[in-house]
Amino acid sequence: MSKNTDELFKNVIAHAKEYGFVFPSSEIYDGLSAVYDYGQFGAELKNNIKTYWWKSMVQMHDNIVGIDSAIFMHPKIWKASGHVDGFSDPMIDNKDSNKRYRADQLLEDRIAKLDEEGKTSEAEELQVEMDNALKAENLPRLRELIIEQNIKCPISGTTNWTEVRQFNLMFSTRVGAIADESDTIYLRPETAQGIFVNYLNVQKSGRMKIPFGIAQIGKAFRNEVIARQFIIRMREFEQMEMQYFVRPGTQAQWFDKWKETRLKWHPALGTDAAKYRYHEHTKLAHYADAAYDIEFEFPFGFKEVEGIHSRTDFDLSQHQQFSGKKMQYFDPEIDPATEKPYGNYIPYVIETSIGLDRMFLLTMINAYREEDLSTDEKQDSRTVLRLHPCLAPVKAAVFPLIKKDGLPEKAREIMDSLKLDFNLQYEEKDAIGKRYRRQDAIGTPFCITVDHQTLEDNTVTIRHRDSMKQERVAADQLDKIIGDLVSWKNLLK
Ligand code: ATP
Repeated sequence: MSKNTDELFKNVIAHAKEYGFVFPSSEIYDGLSAVYDYGQFGAELKNNIKTYWWKSMVQMHDNIVGIDSAIFMHPKIWKASGHVDGFSDPMIDNKDSNKRYRADQLLEDRIAKLDEEGKTSEAEELQVEMDNALKAENLPRLRELIIEQNIKCPISGTTNWTEVRQFNLMFSTRVGAIADESDTIYLRPETAQGIFVNYLNVQKSGRMKIPFGIAQIGKAFRNEVIARQFIIRMREFEQMEMQYFVRPGTQAQWFDKWKETRLKWHPALGTDAAKYRYHEHTKLAHYADAAYDIEFEFPFGFKEVEGIHSRTDFDLSQHQQFSGKKMQYFDPEIDPATEKPYGNYIPYVIETSIGLDRMFLLTMINAYREEDLSTDEKQDSRTVLRLHPCLAPVKAAVFPLIKKDGLPEKAREIMDSLKLDFNLQYEEKDAIGKRYRRQDAIGTPFCITVDHQTLEDNTVTIRHRDSMKQERVAADQLDKIIGDLVSWKNLLK
């Protein structure tokens, strides 16, 4: 990471804390590693991102519906899904520092270093060796590669490594009051299974016809061993997932469609399309027959924000087997090849899964600007979040010019008429310039100032965040001016 991008990232993290977007969790107890809390503006921004996703996935598709399933689920679900046996990372410990690392990430870092040093063929060779070892789940080979590459623990500086072991990422807890009789259950590591086990309930109660989708937003939990890069890798995070159920044999075509649709969704928020790329998985998860990530170029490099996976009929078949309940769908449509109905089958599934927290960070980084506003007369600057107006936590701030002469009362009256539609802030402290800066820092698109003239003709000044231009408008026009800019229509069309 160059100094500039490193500094930019640090500044965004500091800004997120200073202005009430993201706080380290349990901060007064020195924090809890890889867990974060969203503050007053962070919660608003996060909700707005969720709304955008939900509206574009559910509201804009008449064959996609949304659910909200519980975090706790029957423990057999995680047996069936393969997570109890297979949801693990290969870990290695350094015996001198007692620090634990992901074996594959140590090798990935090494590959990146070789690349940096221009040793491209060595890097490629190591990549292939590592991929093969991961595919074959050959843990001793992963260790050998670490030793061969002379990879040292960054803390102890030694190569005194343990064996490589698989470490399950699921958190478990117990339900029921009596310890002996209680059952181990897991905190879900993905929201997807809540959709699969409800697929028939939704299909029947909603009379859904294939192809159809079920969407859900919710928390997921993973005991990530290496927590890095702020809210990129957390132990408690939120996913926005959609599972699309299709006729067997059509999955490749739907996979391509969702891959494209999801990539197009991102730049609508004003992010530079050039900062996105696809990454094709070489090592497929146990359930997938194709998988692409959508990656975004963060200041520290490209990172996955969303996964598009062709999950075959793996999950539904497994649940049919483990639960003993039929997961079949009856398709009455006529197959042109046989001129008979397609009949009973277990649908195939295309999944789109986006990390809300990574989306949040991407949005913050993309919006964050340090702007020099100096003129010949004076030095000046501002920090502004150029958030898409639909996403802005506060849509407008209302200021009385001064705290007397009935201006606060008039400002409150205007505020009361607008707050039915928009999230607003009222501010009367400090000079107007300072109030503008505070609103710029949280990304508020409009500041409305009430002055003495307002009392005479019911006009106000409205100041635009991005252009910083001010204009005088009738107060009764405000709901239209604000409404036009922050309308979801702007994004969804
Ligand atoms: P990674 O390879 O980065 O660990 P993954 O491939 O395990 O991610 P998926 O299981 O495909 O991730 O989950 C879908 C999305 O959930 C990811 O694209 C990411 O945005 C988000 N996500 C996954 N793990 C985390 C985490 N620990 N913290 C925050 N977001 C996460």
